[in-house]
Amino acid sequence: MESFDLIIIGSGPGGYVAAIRAAQLGLRTAIVEKDKELGGTCLNIGCIPSKALLSSSDHFAFAKKEAAKHGIVLKDVGLDLGVMLQRKDKVVKTLTGGVRGLMKLNKVSTFQGTGTITAPGKVSVQGAEGAAQEIEAKNIIIATGSVPSDLPSMKFDGDVIVSSTEALCFTEVPKKLLVIGGGAIGLEMGSVWSRLGSEVTVLEFLPRIALGFDLELANALQKVLTAQGMKFHLGTKVSEVKVENGRATATATKGDEQLTFDADKVLVSIGRRAFADGVGAEKIGVELDDRKRIKVDPHFRTNVEGIYAIGDVIAGPMLAHKAEEEGIACVEMIAGKSGHVNYDVIPGIIYTNPELAGVGVTEDFAKEKGMDVRVGKFPFAANGRALAADDATGFVKFVADAKTDRIIGAHIMSHVASDLMAECVAVMEFGGSAEDLGRTVHAHPTHSEAVKEAALAVNKSALHIGNR
Ligand SMILES: Cc1cc2nc3c(=O)[nH]c(=O)nc-3n(C[C@H](O)[C@H](O)[C@H](O)COP(=O)(O)OP(=O)(O)OC[C@H]3O[C@@H](n4cnc5c(N)ncnc54)[C@H](O)[C@@H]3O)c2cc1C
Repeated sequence: MESFDLIIIGSGPGGYVAAIRAAQLGLRTAIVEKDKELGGTCLNIGCIPSKALLSSSDHFAFAKKEAAKHGIVLKDVGLDLGVMLQRKDKVVKTLTGGVRGLMKLNKVSTFQGTGTITAPGKVSVQGAEGAAQEIEAKNIIIATGSVPSDLPSMKFDGDVIVSSTEALCFTEVPKKLLVIGGGAIGLEMGSVWSRLGSEVTVLEFLPRIALGFDLELANALQKVLTAQGMKFHLGTKVSEVKVENGRATATATKGDEQLTFDADKVLVSIGRRAFADGVGAEKIGVELDDRKRIKVDPHFRTNVEGIYAIGDVIAGPMLAHKAEEEGIACVEMIAGKSGHVNYDVIPGIIYTNPELAGVGVTEDFAKEKGMDVRVGKFPFAANGRALAADDATGFVKFVADAKTDRIIGAHIMSHVASDLMAECVAVMEFGGSAEDLGRTVHAHPTHSEAVKEAALAVNKSALHIGNR
């Protein structure tokens, strides 16, 4: 039986990053993946393919609707969906191949097959064919991620009622697409197909979209997406989706109103559930919580010695960067170092156009909790670079502690919000104040000057707008 210091089950961003860090720290490491490709949900059917399609569809929308404004004359702009999907697949292949290369570079042993923990320290790997292979290690990390959730009244059928996985590879643009759930995945996939010509309707149970993000920004995003052609029904509870002759009909209630929607495809994007099926955790006594997530302590230890868990399979936001940081911290603690994840500064991003990004306390949360905060805002309509680039929709908002001036929340709607967010996260990680950020030199002309100005606005000293 081959022996390792550490076996990681699952090669998503949590698992493969943990493997690299473990190898760097000198641990003899193995990674077990049931799928053919490494990289997990994120690289194969999540973050990366969705962003590839978001970029391509954004170029298409620009060519169709915006180019003329810039004096660019494009005639007969058309769509070759096959090529667009192939490009997405190529991006995925490049990155999953890159992860395989990184495993080799770091001398991490890769096993293909379903990994099952048969006893503490023992993992059996069952490939598609042949006998299972047994491997052992003192430490095992479960990084088996998550899968899309459906409901008994709207079960995935892989064709008409689908999850994000199928919505990443529709071979035709659906004439009508119904999106159930107005969170990140629903809004991103809805944007893709709306830009490519689908009539997209989003049904959301809550009275708002983008739960978890600053309410003012979420409402602003909904307005922009509506102007782009997407339709929204908020406070709408879908009771059932039926499929007949290849078409779907959804029935829903909105207050006292009964509504029906017909569609060619229905994307159910109501959330994801932790996935630990087949890993054998329960059989060896690993405790799960009421949502079937693996229970861990702050050191990512389960209740069974030598077994750890990270990423989507444990509690917390289901995000690739959260999984990565947990992987690194978990391995560092296994190696006797002091790993750490700062859960107060995990940014969330919705990659629509404009993008919505947020980290920390929102203004609405601060109000609800009666926190003593100051808020500073700055619109991209007053930012030279955004105007020059014709992407001046949106604004930056900071929430700072009124007594200490420390930034406790940063929220951005902008074409480049995801990248601008990095600076906000770094300042918050180091406990920076609005004044610190406001006094930091930002190159001109850049979108990032709006970040500086919003920080100045916290203390009513923004330069390029009035301070009230
Ligand atoms: C459409 C979509 C878009 C997304 N976009 C973003 C985004 O922009 N940014 C972001 O941060 N997050 C995004 N996410 C979420 C992100 O993909 C996940 O949070 C992330 O992949 C979680 O990483 P993980 O390592 O915990 O698990 P996963 O990436 O789910 O990887 C788990 C791996 O474990 C394997 N596995 C499971 N059981 C076994 C077993 N018994 N044996 C062997 N292998 C096993 C699985 O095959 C899988 O490869 C998106 C998700 C989707 C679906």
